[in-house]
Amino acid sequence: MSSLHLSGVLLPEGEQRDVWVRDGRFTFDAVPGAETVARGGWLVPGLVDAHCHVGLDPQGGVDEATQEEQAVADRDAGALLLRDCGSPADTRWVQDRDDLPRLIRCGRHIARTRRYIRNFAHEIEPGELTTYVAQEARAGDGWVKLVGDWISREEGDLAPSFPAEAFTAAIATAHEHGARVTAHCFGETVLPWLVDAGIDCIEHGTGLTTDLVETMAAQGTALVPTAHQLDNFPMYAEQGAERFPAYADHMLALHARRRETIMAAYEAGVAIYAGTDAGGVLPHGLIADEVAELASYGMPADYVLGAASWRAREWLGWNAGLDDGAPADFVVYPRDPRTDLSVLREPTAVVLRGQVV
Ligand SMILES: [Zn+2]
Repeated sequence: MSSLHLSGVLLPEGEQRDVWVRDGRFTFDAVPGAETVARGGWLVPGLVDAHCHVGLDPQGGVDEATQEEQAVADRDAGALLLRDCGSPADTRWVQDRDDLPRLIRCGRHIARTRRYIRNFAHEIEPGELTTYVAQEARAGDGWVKLVGDWISREEGDLAPSFPAEAFTAAIATAHEHGARVTAHCFGETVLPWLVDAGIDCIEHGTGLTTDLVETMAAQGTALVPTAHQLDNFPMYAEQGAERFPAYADHMLALHARRRETIMAAYEAGVAIYAGTDAGGVLPHGLIADEVAELASYGMPADYVLGAASWRAREWLGWNAGLDDGAPADFVVYPRDPRTDLSVLREPTAVVLRGQVV
């Protein structure tokens, strides 16, 4: 394995210094004979896509060749740590490949029977929920993904997938198995049930209210808004408008106030992370677009950058900074991303496990 030398501004600290990479790790001690791969520029801890789906496309699970293409697209965009938010495919093999991003898998989504996108989830009834949660907690990498709400054809609107008591038992079961829990939530009703039951993270969160974001901030419940995905709400509304007009109106209303909703969470101090939701409807490799979208809501650039890098890494159990001895996963940019987030689309070098990829 070759040794590397770089000089530049290390984020998040913002210090200009020389660093070396040896055996896949950072060192501040000069390594003789190391190959210089960057002089100048800004070095950012490997980006994180905190909500994506490797092994999924709009029809369901995909083969390994497609999974590889998805992981490579994320990696080339600088996303070197992925929290996979549910996949019907067994993607464990990705973790054996040094040239593919680090992958934290949630296992397969758990949804109510006929109440999610076809072929994505385990579709079950409330009485089976804790059994499936225990199973996915054992199969995944410390996370379980629930579908919190989805359209109910009977009600013609978004509705919680399971009763409140079933969610409470599900979250307790996951925690007993050492797994954190997150849930897909578009509407309002299910959110207080999940937050009160001690869920660890909310995906999308368009139905959040002022009261609830204060509780989330107080108990450390994270939020991954998938802001770029929220722009698809008018399309979902249109698809359902003829048969489910109340649902369509609801989706449009959630969409219309999405910025205020997510910014209220930010203002309350909820920890927000960047996730693209790639793999269902959206393609992989869009972390820079997600960062730009969150910034357009009004969050400061350095906050959003942390949401897609050092803060998200720490939340997921990885090194936040480019510290001596830390795994050498980082991206080099030609301009300061804290003042120009558009530079995330133009990495000079992507280094994963100490190797330029
Ligand atoms: Zn998703």
